[in-house]
Amino acid sequence: MLIEGTVLPDSVELAESAASRVAAYVHIPFCRQICSYCDFAVVAGTDLADRYVAAVCAEIEAAEPFPGRLSAVAFGGGTPTALGWRELERVLGAIEARFGFEADVEMSLEANPEDVTPAGVRNLRAAGFRRISLGVQSFDDAVLTALGRTHSADLARQAVATARGVFDSVSVDLIFGTPGETLESWRSSVSIALETGIDHLSTYSLTVERGTPLSRAVAAGAPEPDSDLQADEWLLATELAAEGGMIRYETSNHARPGHAVVYNLVTWGQGEYVAFGNAAHQHRDGVRSWNVRRVDRYLERIERGEGAESGREQLDRWESEVERVMLGLRRAAGVILGSAGERLLASERGGAALEAGILGVAGDRLMINRPLLGDEVSRALLALAPADC
Ligand code: SF4
Repeated sequence: MLIEGTVLPDSVELAESAASRVAAYVHIPFCRQICSYCDFAVVAGTDLADRYVAAVCAEIEAAEPFPGRLSAVAFGGGTPTALGWRELERVLGAIEARFGFEADVEMSLEANPEDVTPAGVRNLRAAGFRRISLGVQSFDDAVLTALGRTHSADLARQAVATARGVFDSVSVDLIFGTPGETLESWRSSVSIALETGIDHLSTYSLTVERGTPLSRAVAAGAPEPDSDLQADEWLLATELAAEGGMIRYETSNHARPGHAVVYNLVTWGQGEYVAFGNAAHQHRDGVRSWNVRRVDRYLERIERGEGAESGREQLDRWESEVERVMLGLRRAAGVILGSAGERLLASERGGAALEAGILGVAGDRLMINRPLLGDEVSRALLALAPADC
């Protein structure tokens, strides 16, 4: 039963096979300026860029290779294109030398529209990147201004057109729920994004994160995002994307067939990935670990020849099983039931979620039919008593 929006069938094989692949992530923390809503581990300007590239390469060279080659490499941030293509190529080269790439490896980077030039994207493509994800956020200038973004809707359209001529796969990120945005403005942004012929669309709700300028403004009386409107906007985007031929393969992500992001599927499939840079999180050998958050501390640690790890967590078998179901439920393809899924359905809260159509079962798979209510399912999972598995 599909209740919230139109969800096209996803590829179960793709979701499950991604879990056995390995991937790498590189965090590039530099941005032109810090957006009012952002709580990522970023810094304004590129003063530290040379030291950072050298440190990331050193971290990569010190890492233990996987037995197999990488299926996906993702550069995120921050703004990877705050660095020049030669620096990005150098980091990519260090990863290939250390880990090796599968023949069809997905090499992806995030970029802001103002960094997209014809020569720039040709250089990035020549450096090896085949997929680009553009942080457009809106095609409404008033919304872009409210978000504090430095590009215009026209520039964003040009950036998408320029990127489409060069990369194998082009994605656009949009944010919904900016105070002042209307449902019609959101409809227009999603429609324009789809009309540009992109291959992938990510839609995220604006959230007020503690410690950001936005949260201080809201505390001082500025309007905050309207959660009811955000729910309507999520539904609308899902419907428009489906009408445009995209598969909603995860709560916030839609793709044309063949353009689902392998890196994302590895992470949601509890697969293994290494990660480099400040605040980078990785998962390998059953351990989740993360690096120091601040760029200056990251540089100091690496330049002293120390590791940058600041914390780690080893899940026991039950915790890992619960995590497998929680992550897997983000995908439209759902997750194999397993012991946590079966215990969830047998619990009072899980049974009620099934009865209400929030959860669905197809064969041996469990899925969420109403992703906007996914938090309730997560709470029900975390409340389960540990069991042998
Ligand atoms: S461009 Fe993106 S990563 Fe950089 S400050 Fe703005 S929201 Fe954060």
